[in-house]
Amino acid sequence: MAEPSHYLGVDIGTTSTKAVLFNKAGQVLATETIFYPLHTPTPLTAEQDPEEIFRAVLGTVRETIRKSAIDPATLKLVSFSSAMHSLIAVGAEDQLLTESITWADSRAAKHATRIKEEMDGHSIYLRTGTPIHAMSPLSKIVWLKEDKPEIFSQTAMFADIKSFVFHKLFGEYVVDHSIASATGLFNLENLDWDSGALEVAGIYAGQLPKPVPTTHPLSGLASEYAAFMGIPKDVPFIIGASDGVLANLGVGAIDPGVVAVTIGTSGAVRTVSPVPKTDPKGRTFCYALTADHWVIGGAVNNGGIILRWLRDEFAAAEVETAKRLCIDPYDVLTRIASTVNPGSDGLLFHPYLTGERAPLWDSNARGSFFGLSIHHEKQHMIRAVLEGIVYNLYTVLLAVEELTGEPTLIKASGGFARSEMWRQLMADVFGQPVTVPESFESSCLGAVVLGMYALGEIDDFSIVGDMIGHTHTHEPDPACTEIYKELLPIFIRLSRLLTDEYASIADFQRKHLG
Ligand code: ADP
Repeated sequence: MAEPSHYLGVDIGTTSTKAVLFNKAGQVLATETIFYPLHTPTPLTAEQDPEEIFRAVLGTVRETIRKSAIDPATLKLVSFSSAMHSLIAVGAEDQLLTESITWADSRAAKHATRIKEEMDGHSIYLRTGTPIHAMSPLSKIVWLKEDKPEIFSQTAMFADIKSFVFHKLFGEYVVDHSIASATGLFNLENLDWDSGALEVAGIYAGQLPKPVPTTHPLSGLASEYAAFMGIPKDVPFIIGASDGVLANLGVGAIDPGVVAVTIGTSGAVRTVSPVPKTDPKGRTFCYALTADHWVIGGAVNNGGIILRWLRDEFAAAEVETAKRLCIDPYDVLTRIASTVNPGSDGLLFHPYLTGERAPLWDSNARGSFFGLSIHHEKQHMIRAVLEGIVYNLYTVLLAVEELTGEPTLIKASGGFARSEMWRQLMADVFGQPVTVPESFESSCLGAVVLGMYALGEIDDFSIVGDMIGHTHTHEPDPACTEIYKELLPIFIRLSRLLTDEYASIADFQRKHLG
């Protein structure tokens, strides 16, 4: 019998690091997740301790190998996914000058606006594929330069969380083209740091990690870490890519026309193009998966976090009922919502509770119910919230479609997919079949498939179809799609009409609530 082969995917996320061990058939043999906190000492700050994350990487690998009880000699590779847009300022002696400043940190908001308005930000976006926003490392470096000059002047290396981890493991600062393409500093045509963006940031290329393809293997792991994780020292580590683009690979959305829609805490719509493409209107991102797979799409702030808000603020009775029935409160909420007609009898909900990235790119945007009448009840409001989150993602798809053409198939993932009702609602709003893998390990699976490709075990990504395992498919119900088609234009017009009033109410909130 042939010796078994095992593959380990590690996803360094914002709430946790997760390791998943697969065999070649795509079966999950063991997983381990280690959570860590997000430090938010001010409303604008969202940082994490890089050393704690590094320990989580070591700990998840160690536990996964231990739990699976595989012979470590059968481990073919470890391949990585990580969250985008993190920034860690490191001094000349490798000392940390900042924590890992995550995508959720918005201290650079003012600086992003200035880059956009005064430093030809749109041209930088067109060359780098990253929308000019507080989340991007470009804006964060400008913020450090202007507001924290004592840190900026001491910084020898502007790392990201994955390059930090790889530096600890292998002693060199490298960044994959995918994470680099989400910094706002990386030129998509040259596959190197962009001189114009470097000038705006006020840094030189030597202060950034060396860009390498996402298939780049590293070996020669520091012995102490190999011993701690219980893996051979010579196992190849593949640097991998970002969680977003790997989720596309992991749900099998890499062919033209296939669109991946994710609703986790936040949400995203993404599709793959063989060449990089940016949007003349600046609404979409373009991030690298490989040199001939570019992930184009838009990320929204307001995904599942809004249902969580509804559960926590308005659903104490439903939470109590769920407790008595020993079921998830979200299942009670979606069951209640399913008693209401599609379109919530003309009630619309704009989910912009945390401002919005795509499609509005407006941090002042705020949420609202529209169309409330005396006959609407709580269940209408619950359904309108589920619908509003999906309408918003649909409007992102409309922008993506302008660049990549109409989709033929939607592949969905993220926590929302636990609900059959919400999955069907997405198929009905999008008017397209929606396929959802049963497994929730898309980014780790994507990392592993990319790793297999990097080592020449496979010639293309088609194996992912076999590895995904069981999927659910939802066909749109034409009658429901018709209803949504009537409501969507109102939803879209309304947010445009409200732009000025978003600014007024956000000003009020800043003035009175701090
Ligand atoms: P993360 O973005 O942190 O990875 P998940 O992908 O697990 O999180 O998504 C969490 C979100 O998924 C929750 O905020 C909630 O909106 C949604 N969710 C989780 N479970 C269910 C469920 N059973 N029914 C409907 N929605 C759910």
